[in-house]
Amino acid sequence: MSNCKQMTRSLSDAMDRQLDAEQSEILVRHLVVCTGCRRFHDQLITIRLGMRDLPPIRRSSNVSSPDESCDAQAFPALNL
Ligand SMILES: [Zn+2]
Repeated sequence: MSNCKQMTRSLSDAMDRQLDAEQSEILVRHLVVCTGCRRFHDQLITIRLGMRDLPPIRRSSNVSSPDESCDAQAFPALNL
């Protein structure tokens, strides 16, 4: 299991700069399975959208099946 503290740090970094491919993949894989970090991600998105005044990004993704929904697009904070 990945370290949540490290993951939230990477998420914060993703707000300022583009993560490299490996880092992004690790992060996405973690977000798919970790509710806590996903919530943190959502908060970052909310803040970001608030700052930039963009329309909310909503995806009707099925969160209950993490293995088949490892989709980077579900995590817009990562600038992928
Ligand atoms: Zn986590």
